[in-house]
Amino acid sequence: MLQSLPKEYSESSSATLLETVLQLLVEQLRKLSHSGFFAADLHEYVKHLCRSVESLQGELHKQDRDVTLVSQVVEAIWRATQFLAGTTSNKVPYEFTYLLREVLHDWDLRDTIVTTSLHQAPDFSCQPAQMAPSVLLRALGMDQLLGHGELVQMGLPEIFQHMPLLCTPLYHEVAHYIEERYKFVPALLISHPDDVVNAVPDVKVFNDKDRRDRAARMHMTEHFCDLVAAAYVGRCVSDYVNQWDRDPSFRDTHPSAESRAGVTMDFLLGRPNPVVSLLTDAVARARLNIKLECRYSLPDVHASFSDVRPAQITSIAELHGLLPAADEFLRLALDAESDLTGHNIASVPRDKRARLVNDLVEKCIRSFMITKAWHESLDKKAIA
Ligand SMILES: [Zn+2]
Repeated sequence: MLQSLPKEYSESSSATLLETVLQLLVEQLRKLSHSGFFAADLHEYVKHLCRSVESLQGELHKQDRDVTLVSQVVEAIWRATQFLAGTTSNKVPYEFTYLLREVLHDWDLRDTIVTTSLHQAPDFSCQPAQMAPSVLLRALGMDQLLGHGELVQMGLPEIFQHMPLLCTPLYHEVAHYIEERYKFVPALLISHPDDVVNAVPDVKVFNDKDRRDRAARMHMTEHFCDLVAAAYVGRCVSDYVNQWDRDPSFRDTHPSAESRAGVTMDFLLGRPNPVVSLLTDAVARARLNIKLECRYSLPDVHASFSDVRPAQITSIAELHGLLPAADEFLRLALDAESDLTGHNIASVPRDKRARLVNDLVEKCIRSFMITKAWHESLDKKAIA
């Protein structure tokens, strides 16, 4: 058994395994560095990872190497490589990812590098890669990995790859990441503990104080994520809560679906609500360049979508608003057929309309991306 072996033996055997793993990672990263990525920041990150693995290989050959420390970093690099590998496939939903990157920019998280993963489960996620602690990276001479951004992976069901209207729960998942970075809710629990519990009174059923505080934190976090999502995609939030919250009743980790929808609607309609006020103030106290308020405007998609043409989008606010606007149009296309008589869409079979509208949304986003990139390159030329 491994425990009974002399320390030197087990260390050298782990070092051999690590050496092999590092060699495999170097090969994979070299392959990745020749792949086509959607964004330049991903290319940069692969280059830094590659250099880090090479310096780790050198570290393993040192006499006083610390195999446990090296293995922690190898694990982190492996995870990062896995995130990056999923993003080179031509299946990445570039259009939707573009919207999420804009959200991260709004929240001053430009250091975030977005990767995607398509899976078979009906789940959405936004996970940071969790690079090894900076102290450890410095100790191993891998400073090049510091200050090069945080890698996150957006996970979504593969069958929704070209269905942006079904991907709105990712706005909620991105908000979890935003909350993780800024920790608005824990700060709120310290500054206004009683107000928080009174704002989510359901948690008072827990007599145990620790359990009640934990539930209050989790409920406020869920409300925060719903409000961030609603700030970008409006009423689409209530739809995803109803569709995806498999257990709509109140529990430790989640408020009831009814209370989530209620808080979201109060926020969208500007009605007074203690949860909304507490969270809006918490964001204001953090003194960021952003307030918790609606950030979308609805583009007029009716005329163009009825004729099966993409609509022209003129701002980032309209780009987010495209999702609730298209969602509204799709309802009309499915439920109020008579309103569409005489338009091209009336001749599209009913069961093809959802895919068609999603396709039009993707085309709108793509055309906005191309126009913006074109103007930016012209601006750069004008400055040069
Ligand atoms: Zn959540």
